[in-house]
Amino acid sequence: MALSPSPYDWIDQSLATLHKAHWHRVVSPLDGLPGPVVTWANQPMLNFASNDYLGLAGDPRLAAAAIAAIRTYGTGSTGSRLLSGHRPIHRQLESAIADLKGTEDAIVFSSGYSANLGTISALVGSRDLVLSDQYNHSSLINGARLSGATVCTYAHGDSDDLRRHLETQRQQYRRCLILTDTVFSMDGDLCPLPEILDLADTHGAMVLVDEAHGTGVLGKTGAGAVEYLGCRGRSLIQVGTLSKALGSLGGYVTGSATLMDLLRNRAASWIYTTGLSPADTAAALAAIQVIHTEPERRARLWQRVQQLSTELDALLAAAPPEGIRRRLPSESPIVCLEVADAATALAWGQHLREVGVWVAAVRPPTVPTSRLRLTLMATHEETHIQRLVAALAPGLAAPED
Ligand SMILES: *Cc1c(COP(=O)(O)O)cnc(C)c1O
Repeated sequence: MALSPSPYDWIDQSLATLHKAHWHRVVSPLDGLPGPVVTWANQPMLNFASNDYLGLAGDPRLAAAAIAAIRTYGTGSTGSRLLSGHRPIHRQLESAIADLKGTEDAIVFSSGYSANLGTISALVGSRDLVLSDQYNHSSLINGARLSGATVCTYAHGDSDDLRRHLETQRQQYRRCLILTDTVFSMDGDLCPLPEILDLADTHGAMVLVDEAHGTGVLGKTGAGAVEYLGCRGRSLIQVGTLSKALGSLGGYVTGSATLMDLLRNRAASWIYTTGLSPADTAAALAAIQVIHTEPERRARLWQRVQQLSTELDALLAAAPPEGIRRRLPSESPIVCLEVADAATALAWGQHLREVGVWVAAVRPPTVPTSRLRLTLMATHEETHIQRLVAALAPGLAAPED
């Protein structure tokens, strides 16, 4: 008897389409501690694919803080922060974030993603307008969708286009919220924050920025791109993650005390989920301590960014590697090389892995054009960068360790 078509058959067809477009993705396990050199399939691999910018995810001080918190508070938070899941270290972490950022208060979420979903949908609704940068992170895009507000996208980093949207549309809505990454995660460039905040003031709009890749990395004290761009103290809402430069897991929102009070009452992704685990909370708290006491980590990270950019530009000018078009403009430890197409990105990713270098080959639909995304860490050595560049220049021998 012939089987009738299964209602799940479309899954195979969808996967086949992904394969055909070179868009299909798989996971690869890395062994051991995170760091500039990791182990993959029993081979040491230079790591240019992590968001652990300060090299803290494998730091013994964070591990010790997490272990101590587990001994004191257990492994699970056991409930929502509003019920049994609220511990003293949650408030300590929230105070430490507000202190780092120079804001009144902060609130921690289970992830940066859920911080954006919960915050955006608490700020705006169906009578409101969201203006969103074209290259914003998925969590901002989906937060805006979830809110039910009217969403308009403005051209990437283009404050003139944002102004046009405000001039023609702002009046028709109750509230208006502008959403932008500060550091764009797949390009490494920065948003024009002072211009955005001026426009928001003129047109009576709120601004929410996503500091996921800025916190701990940019600014004199490591507070982030808001500090770096001279906008500390201006009224805006900052969201970020504990899982990148802070080497832990979780997200946060920071700004006015009244906003945090509202979020504790209105953000569904904070109210109806379990409080951040004691271990993650303590590790993030220890990371903020390191950010205060070891500014030399940031300095080292920026030296490596400078070194990589200079060496890549020299290579691209002298002998551009096959299929690699250009280095995208960046003001962060995210350095991207634009390549001809998805197949070229994959081929380069695989070639580099074969010679012991781990980079992300990022393709549509994540980004509009395929690229190799290289991320730097404060713990990279000068020779690590030299080996990466040599691996991109076949014919040049890679220096030995
Ligand atoms: C990583 C990232 C997030 C999500 O943070 P998680 O804590 O990993 O959920 C949000 N926004 C941006 C821009 C990111 O890069």
